[in-house]
Amino acid sequence: MQRRIAILFAAVMLLATSASALVGDPLKLVATSASALVGDPLKLVATSASALVREPLKLVATIPDLADIAQAIGGERVSITTLCKGTENTHFVTAKPSHLVAMSRADALVEIGLSLEMAFVPGLLEQCRNDRLQPGKPGLINTSEGWKALDVPVVLDRKQGDVHPQGNPHMNLAPSGGRQMAERIFAGLCALDPSGKPEYQKRYDAWLAELAEAEKRWSALGAAWKGRKVVLYHKEFDYLAAEYGIDVLGSVEPKPGIAPTPGHIADLVERMRREKDVVLITAVWSNNKEVREIAERTGARVVELPNMCRGVPGTDTWIRMMDLVHQRIDAAFRPATPKEAKSGG
Ligand SMILES: [Zn+2]
Repeated sequence: MQRRIAILFAAVMLLATSASALVGDPLKLVATSASALVGDPLKLVATSASALVREPLKLVATIPDLADIAQAIGGERVSITTLCKGTENTHFVTAKPSHLVAMSRADALVEIGLSLEMAFVPGLLEQCRNDRLQPGKPGLINTSEGWKALDVPVVLDRKQGDVHPQGNPHMNLAPSGGRQMAERIFAGLCALDPSGKPEYQKRYDAWLAELAEAEKRWSALGAAWKGRKVVLYHKEFDYLAAEYGIDVLGSVEPKPGIAPTPGHIADLVERMRREKDVVLITAVWSNNKEVREIAERTGARVVELPNMCRGVPGTDTWIRMMDLVHQRIDAAFRPATPKEAKSGG
């Protein structure tokens, strides 16, 4: 992977040398006429507003959820490139030449962190030769900073293939995760572009108001879910389960990132048969033959949830995606009355 990225990078840099004049300070203002500018370039006074064109901050967002929230807060002051598609499994995303181009030119990288993007971000950061994005710089916006992760391992054993070495990284699927991501993005944009703070503040407040309305809808549904039982394919929805008191019986993957084995499936099927009304939660990337097999053997209902924005229709924003997640879970739980429950087998 590293070698492949290095080759790609050589090609990218050839292209970039001619464009290097464009890879400048994001706050640099381009004036149609130098005489239109007076004083400190960061506090420009223009004789005519139309004489100024502010280059938007070039952001790279690792996942569409971060792109959506960064766009909502950044408005026209940002332009965003997104690395992952909403249908992908973030743990196994492969770096592409286009990712490297975007990273080499970016003013900031917006990531979840907690090793969610471990498969592609460290290599890109190393190869992009963009000092602005490196750890410790304001251009690296780690949105999980300050987030209390679930399942932080006491002893890390990578040889077992666990892709959650810093605890559960799927913060973007926590109902409270939007607030966390937005808070970090707002702080990051204000640090990079202080003169934009009033606009960021206004847009951030508007987004929080929209979120507050959504949270009312979600908690109205989630209030009935306490004690309901689910099995997850991958440990993506643990935060959501914890926030509503849903009981997670187990996961189809024996460890995060490890494909199910026949023995593990047999154990899981046994446990699910002893319970009633178990819902099997999958994502777009994981709704596969093992899921169908387990559903057939246990009678469990399967619900496929989006695991990122823009993976399925109707999820173009993070709030709409979470609306759909709540609606689908509620629909899966709703028909389960003792009368209708299947005994499995
Ligand atoms: Zn994971």
